[in-house]
Formats: sequence, C-alpha cells, structure tokens
Amino acid sequence: MIVPTAVGSDRLMKQILQQPQTVKPFQCETCGASYSMQKNLSSHKRKECGREANLQCPLCPMKTKRKGNLKRHMLFVHTKL
Ligand SMILES: [Zn+2]
Ligand SMILES: [Zn+2]
Repeated sequence: MIVPTAVGSDRLMKQILQQPQTVKPFQCETCGASYSMQKNLSSHKRKECGREANLQCPLCPMKTKRKGNLKRHMLFVHTKL
C-alpha cells in the first residue's frame, strides 16, 4: 500500500524505492499535484493546495506543508539508528 505524500524528497524517495511506475490518475487542476487515490487528492485540495510550505525542520533547511511529512522527515533523515 503506497501512501502518497505532499511534496518533496520523501515522496520521490518512496517512489524510487518502492514503485517507480506508480500510477497517479488523480491530478489537481490547480497545482498539478497527482495522487493515486481520489481521497488523497480531495484532502490535498482541502488542506494544502495553494498553501505555502511553512513547516520548517528545526535541524535542516527542509520545509513542508504537512505535519506528517515533517515527522517522517525527522525520522528518516535525523534519526540515527
Ligand atoms: Zn493542488
Ligand atoms: Zn531536517
């Protein structure tokens, strides 16, 4: 199960690592973001389309629109296992 995320390298990484040819038929006509599921597109339009990426990682220059993305970013990038 792929969970598409908003913007940035996390999504890119996931695509590259998991499924290079993920089909994303649902595209936002406003900004061009595409999603594999209708509900994700809807949530994108409601919550983040047109908004600035204003969540700043405290440890690096990375910015995102979603709390979840920042969380995941912190985990992947700034957590040393
Ligand atoms: Zn959009
Ligand atoms: Zn960071």
